[in-house]
Amino acid sequence: MSSPVTQARRRNLNRANRTICPVCGGTCSTVKTDQITPQYREATLACENVECAAVFVASITPVRFLQPSRKAQTDETNSSPQA
Ligand SMILES: [Zn+2]
Repeated sequence: MSSPVTQARRRNLNRANRTICPVCGGTCSTVKTDQITPQYREATLACENVECAAVFVASITPVRFLQPSRKAQTDETNSSPQA
């Protein structure tokens, strides 16, 4: 039930979902991700440039909401994540 605009936005996000290596500017592949807290996720990334081959950890955290949640917020920390 998502709008065409939302679907296009998702496609663009998927296409642009390549992290750039901070050292050489090459593209990186995701080795693994770990959900540390409901608001914080870490991703281990590996540069695909064989002359660089850097491996580093990046953080993924919500910065701002473009659309508020439809779910009522009862607990600010949301310590028991349920789908
Ligand atoms: Zn690199």
